[in-house]
Amino acid sequence: MQTLFPEFIQSMRALLGAETDAFVRAMEGPPALALRVHRCAEAALPFIEGAVPWAEGGFYLRDGARPGASLAHWAGAFYLQEASAMLPAAVLSARPGERVLDLCAAPGGKASQMALAMGGEGALVANEIDPARARVLAGNLERLGVCNAVVTCETPARLAARWPGAFDAVLVDAPCSGEGMFRRDADTRAQWNPAAPAGCQKRQTEILDAAARLVRPGGRLVYSTCTFNALENEQSVRGFLARHADFSPWEFVAPGLGASEGGMLRVWPQRVRGDGQFVARLRRAGEAEALWENAPQRGAARARRGEKAEGAQDARNLLEQLCATAVRALPEPLSRARMHFVGGRLFAAPAAAPDTDGLRVIWPGTALLRAEKNRVEPEHALAMALAPRQALRVAPLGEDEARAFLAGESLHRAGEPGWTLVACAGLPLGWGKQVDGALKNHLPKGLRKALRA
Ligand code: SAM
Repeated sequence: MQTLFPEFIQSMRALLGAETDAFVRAMEGPPALALRVHRCAEAALPFIEGAVPWAEGGFYLRDGARPGASLAHWAGAFYLQEASAMLPAAVLSARPGERVLDLCAAPGGKASQMALAMGGEGALVANEIDPARARVLAGNLERLGVCNAVVTCETPARLAARWPGAFDAVLVDAPCSGEGMFRRDADTRAQWNPAAPAGCQKRQTEILDAAARLVRPGGRLVYSTCTFNALENEQSVRGFLARHADFSPWEFVAPGLGASEGGMLRVWPQRVRGDGQFVARLRRAGEAEALWENAPQRGAARARRGEKAEGAQDARNLLEQLCATAVRALPEPLSRARMHFVGGRLFAAPAAAPDTDGLRVIWPGTALLRAEKNRVEPEHALAMALAPRQALRVAPLGEDEARAFLAGESLHRAGEPGWTLVACAGLPLGWGKQVDGALKNHLPKGLRKALRA
């Protein structure tokens, strides 16, 4: 790997003084790889050792563990995330029922962490400006069975113009020079140059100013980077506070890391087991009441005028068919969601989500079903959101069979005919359709994968 640039070490000496040598040694050491349990702690056990003190469900990986190649990872049991990267969402502390925006969300580590904290209640809008990365984000939320999220692909400025004051909490996990990732990402290390922080700060200023408009009065804004220089961290925050008199620092304490100062906290790799990270928590002045609760949605306004929501009856009929053929019951958050059709597919969007009409939406909620010529087929996203007991029929597979299913094979096995949730160790894998003596594979082609035993 490229050695650390002398200019970088020099700039760190200005921040760290006598601690710089220890910092450089830590930066040449191994990264603190970790995972966050999402839906099954038991499946994570073979890969983990001690807990990450500042993040619920966060655990360091054992030496040599390769959980990314496991069935459990494929099935959303956990999310691979560096330990320090778990701090920003822990500080934001999303709560069930809130409306939360992750403005720079791909690939979805912090978005999925917040979705878990929200327990399916309220709405998470996960936005990513880059379309390819937004699709990866949506794929990760699907794999993890998140069912109260919407994924948009917009500029922060467009969202701010559209949704002023609409969110209880906004996370800006900003694009940055990535100095904190130098020990695990050779490209970021090699691409660094002394001018990078100033360029990044300009972009961060634009994103933060848009974020300010999106937070409701009394709401909170969390800003984070995975870089060390003060320009992108403390100076970005101080500049923001100078421009936005209605925001102030909001102190916090992070277990294992200590107390913030001026609402800001750093993670240093020579002090704790984690890569570099900076987090700031700010609060907007004003009423603590969630304004959006009273804000009418377009559909709701139509309903008050006595008009029938378009397609509502169709949606009910299709859901009845779905219940007759594939599921016993929808998971609670989905049964309370707003249903809508896009291109012959029925999606369940969290009822608390703001109106996305006219915005570029990558994932308009959890896809429930496809309707074709009066036939209903359950969607993969629905399979991943289900607990096995919620399916009408379940095929519990052993590990070898599950690997064959993930590779796209149909399985020879007896069973009641019809749509069947394929599961392994209590985790959903996708849909199969039992026809005669075979369980036909209905895993989307793009997700099929040969996993090593
Ligand atoms: N929060 C993510 C997670 O936990 O998985 C990581 C986010 S990463 C640090 C920053 C993201 O910001 C990138 O996905 C990048 O594409 C996006 N980004 C880049 N330029 C942006 C801009 N001008 N506005 C908003 N997001 C931007």
